[in-house]
Amino acid sequence: MRLRNVKGSREMIAAYEGVINEPQELKGKWAKEFGNNNPIHVEIGMGKGKFISTLAAMNKDINYVGIEKYSSVLIRAVQREENSEEERPSNLRFIRFDAEYITDIFSENEVDRIYLNFSDPWPKDRHAKRRLTSKEFLKRYSAILSKEGSVIFKTDNRDLFDFSLEQIKEADWELVSYTYDLHNSEFVNGNVMTEYETKFVEMGKPINRLECKMK
Ligand code: SAM
Repeated sequence: MRLRNVKGSREMIAAYEGVINEPQELKGKWAKEFGNNNPIHVEIGMGKGKFISTLAAMNKDINYVGIEKYSSVLIRAVQREENSEEERPSNLRFIRFDAEYITDIFSENEVDRIYLNFSDPWPKDRHAKRRLTSKEFLKRYSAILSKEGSVIFKTDNRDLFDFSLEQIKEADWELVSYTYDLHNSEFVNGNVMTEYETKFVEMGKPINRLECKMK
């Protein structure tokens, strides 16, 4: 994703009602924020937000939190919501935040699902810890996921996918399912495409998908 500095994006984001500006204050209090006890699904690295906005509109009985590191990217998701004819969805919140510190914003058992879509590959070995499916990140997820909670990961990047399969083993997590070709598999039913996914599918690239959970 290009990281052009979109002028004033921080201010525009802060002003949007669906953005949580102090997410640390909601640790352990997300049910109160949403006003119900519905499951909470989180997307890390949501980019322009098409995936999570679509899911939030489809599933009113699930609460969604989209996390994006850069305001210059998050602003696109905010603009999508602002330009929508529909009312602001009551089950969707956005956060500008680095997921490395995700345990500062959710407490134990607070999250029921984590989506990772087309996460940055960080190809250099010395940056492996930054990959969102590294065992270091899995450890953070295990501190916030409910017992049956899972992580669902999609990527076009086969090296990152194979690395992720290894990390799941190393972290002693359970691999629930996986495919190297999502769009020619049973998992395509109900699949919501992300912006990156649409591009890669148009290029004819196979999409890898896995689901894993704590043992
Ligand atoms: N998920 C979107 C899609 O599939 O179209 C965007 C994919 S883009 C390649 C990866 C996104 O993850 C970028 O917007 C990037 O800023 C964000 N990101 C990377 N590392 C992150 C982190 N540690 N915390 C939050 N967001 C992160």
